[in-house]
Amino acid sequence: MRASHLPLFTLKEDPKDSQVASHRLLARAGFIKKQASGLYAYMPFGYMVHRNIEEIIRQTMNRYKGIEVHLPLLTQAELWQGSGRWNKMGKELMRAKDRHGHEFALAPTHEEAITWLASTFISSYKQLPINLYQIGNKYRDEIRPRYGLIRGREFVMKDAYSFHANEESLDDTYQLMRKCYREIFNKCSLDTIPVQADSGNMGGAGSEEFMVASDIGEETLLLCDSCNYSSNQEKTPYVADVTYKNSDEPIEKISTPNVYTISDAKKLLNADEQKFIKTVILEDAKNIVIAFIPGHRDLNEVKIKNVSNLGEIKMASEETILKVTGAKPGFAGPANLPVKDQDTVEVSGSNKLVKIFFDTTLENAENMISGANEDHHHIKGLNAGRDFAVINAEDLTLVVEEDPCPNCGNPLKVTRGIEVGHIFKLGNQYTKAANLNFLDEQGRAKIPVMGCYGIGIGRTLATIVEQNHDDKGIIWPEEIAPYKVHLIAIAKSEEEIAKADSFYEDLRSKGISVYYDDRKERPGVKFNDAELIGHPYQIVLGKPFFKENQVEFKLRKTLKKEVISPEEALRRIAL
Ligand code: ATP
Ligand code: MG
Repeated sequence: MRASHLPLFTLKEDPKDSQVASHRLLARAGFIKKQASGLYAYMPFGYMVHRNIEEIIRQTMNRYKGIEVHLPLLTQAELWQGSGRWNKMGKELMRAKDRHGHEFALAPTHEEAITWLASTFISSYKQLPINLYQIGNKYRDEIRPRYGLIRGREFVMKDAYSFHANEESLDDTYQLMRKCYREIFNKCSLDTIPVQADSGNMGGAGSEEFMVASDIGEETLLLCDSCNYSSNQEKTPYVADVTYKNSDEPIEKISTPNVYTISDAKKLLNADEQKFIKTVILEDAKNIVIAFIPGHRDLNEVKIKNVSNLGEIKMASEETILKVTGAKPGFAGPANLPVKDQDTVEVSGSNKLVKIFFDTTLENAENMISGANEDHHHIKGLNAGRDFAVINAEDLTLVVEEDPCPNCGNPLKVTRGIEVGHIFKLGNQYTKAANLNFLDEQGRAKIPVMGCYGIGIGRTLATIVEQNHDDKGIIWPEEIAPYKVHLIAIAKSEEEIAKADSFYEDLRSKGISVYYDDRKERPGVKFNDAELIGHPYQIVLGKPFFKENQVEFKLRKTLKKEVISPEEALRRIAL
């Protein structure tokens, strides 16, 4: 392709809102244009790269027995109401109404729609298992769209959904998809770490995310060097690092004027954080959640959300805290709490349900300190069981670096990661909600179980750039690059131009994918553009070419110049 036919769209300046290399370089190299927050248009090179990734995914999915379909992006409210996600998805779901007032969502994912599709034709075990996939747009009203293509509000996802007669069959396909994903990401030159993951609002049992280690990653991963255990921090189980000594010390109320935090109380009482019970009070429109955790740990918001069904994580207001503890914030604790689990409390005119949870490590807690549910007072010498009942005991603790590995006990390491893919075992919640049945070998009606498997194309593309760039620009892996060769002619006379043109035609006739910068620009401008855009091979036709039929050959990765014969250059490209 000639630059005179397909122009370059490079920019000199970084976009003002770019915080990460992939956003900066993709915008400067002219691959993407921002239309609005989280909405990007793909320019020709950007779209070529996008399609190359799609094609890798499509070919690999097909080899792993995926069947490609395409679903409408507009999905009627009834589909989501059937599964209960019309409300559960909250503000992330982009909603719209038609002229008759019927409600729709722009699909953020397609579990409901694909289950409807499956229900139109699946009736017998003979049709199972089946793995249907599509490559298409998704819409999510993200709270914080950022990092360019990494977190958009519209993006393309490859989403696959498998249907099975039983769990073993689901296990088989889940393992196959795991393998398939490793192959896809290897082809994209991405090193991925599969980690145990939370299922979020997909529900279901068991899921893994494919993470690419990166400083800009929004996910925190916990990895064990000894046994290779790896999981998302959201999901990592906490193995207690505290032991409580038996204690028969009497319970005692103490005056703690203006001591609002554990660290202040720790100083005043000269006690370890471990001796404290921390109270975290959260609320949403319908619930008030009171969580008691060990004083030296933080609450894992995903764990509490999963057990309490909170719609959002928001600290309780002062009014709420006063209503449920009888005291100002800072003096809450499990003993003498004025409210019980499942009580209804009225806050600012609306009734909310109180839900109380304890971290499991507190089941044996003895000789502890906590707020007294009374302004400016704490209690010490608290024993679980004796002074307060531990109810709804759950793992609520956020696991951090150096905590013991849940598998082997060795200290965990922390890495940041970008999630590029996610696989789930969904069970039968969607098929059940949609009344999808099949007849088994004995002619009995059964509900199939499902799996689902997603990869974000734009995020994968940006992650490839995060992993493959230098200070001059992008370094595309060959499989992904818009073109393989970037050909630059520094020709002046008509004769030189004709010779360069015929070299280009020759490469094309040999079937080599080549972008030919035939612009009348200064060599420096052309070199800079070639480095910014990042095609893997560069061939420069300059003086040595016109005089001695020698070309300058560079790999974009090293930018080391070699003067070699055109034949040798072709040989290296073909390698
Ligand atoms: P995240 O935790 O990053 O919000 P998610 O867990 O909600 O993502 P999934 O529902 O598992 O995402 O979607 C599957 C894949 O779609 C992700 O692994 C990711 O590659 C991609 N993806 C999800 N949200 C976005 C987004 N806002 N922009 C671009 N790609 C996305
Ligand atoms: Mg995910």
